[in-house]
Amino acid sequence: MILIVDDTPENLISLKKVLEKYNFEVDTASSGEEALKKVLKNSYVLIILDVQMPGMDGFEVAEAISGYSKAKETAIIFLSAANTEFRFIAKGYSSGGLDYITKPVDMNILLLKVQTFYRIYEQNRKLNEMQKSLLEEIEFRKEAERKKDEFISIASHELKTPLTSVKGYVQLLERSVDKGDTITVKKHLGKAQVQLEKLNSLIADLLDISKIESGKLKFNKQEFCIDELIDNVIDVMHQSSPEFKIIKEGNTKCKVYGDEMRIEQVVINFLTNAIKYSPGTSEIKLSCNIKGDGLFLSVKDYGIGMSEDQLKNVFEKFYRVEETSQRFQGLGIGLYIASEIIKRHGGEIGVNSTYGQGSEFYFIIPLKFNQDFDEL
Ligand code: ADP
Repeated sequence: MILIVDDTPENLISLKKVLEKYNFEVDTASSGEEALKKVLKNSYVLIILDVQMPGMDGFEVAEAISGYSKAKETAIIFLSAANTEFRFIAKGYSSGGLDYITKPVDMNILLLKVQTFYRIYEQNRKLNEMQKSLLEEIEFRKEAERKKDEFISIASHELKTPLTSVKGYVQLLERSVDKGDTITVKKHLGKAQVQLEKLNSLIADLLDISKIESGKLKFNKQEFCIDELIDNVIDVMHQSSPEFKIIKEGNTKCKVYGDEMRIEQVVINFLTNAIKYSPGTSEIKLSCNIKGDGLFLSVKDYGIGMSEDQLKNVFEKFYRVEETSQRFQGLGIGLYIASEIIKRHGGEIGVNSTYGQGSEFYFIIPLKFNQDFDEL
């Protein structure tokens, strides 16, 4: 848009008409003060500025404008009837003008200049925008790279912990076997088994991530009984964390169409997190009901919870709540995988949480076969 600043209404009107005839969008101001207000509010590509005006003159306006960040890329052309001497022209250029045209104005020449400056400034503006978005993109890459490095270091650490334990138990086993102490052998075997399970599930998660990245996460969908799945999962969780009571609410008595193992993986992820992030508590609620034509399942804990800010990102890859990441082990990928699984079932995943009071993770998936979300 072009801003014409002139205290003579006839000049404003005639110039506006000519420019509009050539499809320029034009705004006007009849004083320097009004021009400054408009420049603060709007973005102009070009300002055609009369030099002699009561109140602020054109030079003062140009100098004030040069301090506005908003008008950094705005071109200024001065128009002057009286001040045609070189020192005025020089002042015009030094106060930020691109050109200094003396009146009477040859409209054809002014138009040519306006068209040229407009084109140059428009191109310049576009180049700046492009540069800005390129810089942002580079930053975003850099950030992704940093996250990846951080992830590799956390993942190596997470994998090393159970591996070190297994090594320790195997050494102990050797000694107990030598002594012929079968009871201790069984105890150490059981502990090594738990650590191997951890290792197995960490590796499975890592493999899932790379399958998601390469679009190779496959689903084997068929009808299954969700109530049975929940009862089994509760049993398994009870064996590994007997201190927690998982209260099941609701009974759907219906079949769900989906990949049973993957849905089980999501429920286990919700429950494992509910236990992990709720130290000092001993109860978790698992609800399951039919909502419309979908299955709703939620896991509610009474643990550390999350603030509004923290829970915004929980389904993002590698995200872990910074404040608590030192206290709890994890890779920050479980919920990302869960959200991919639910999305690929045509469902929705979400969380409600209150900082210090607990969280409720849930998903809804359509009960019926849905061709759009069936695997190719
Ligand atoms: P991980 O637990 O391995 O870090 P997840 O993807 O399962 O990875 O969870 C991502 C983050 O979400 C966790 O690091 C934690 O900060 C937060 N979170 C997940 N579940 C809960 C929960 N039940 N209560 C509080 N915070 C949770």
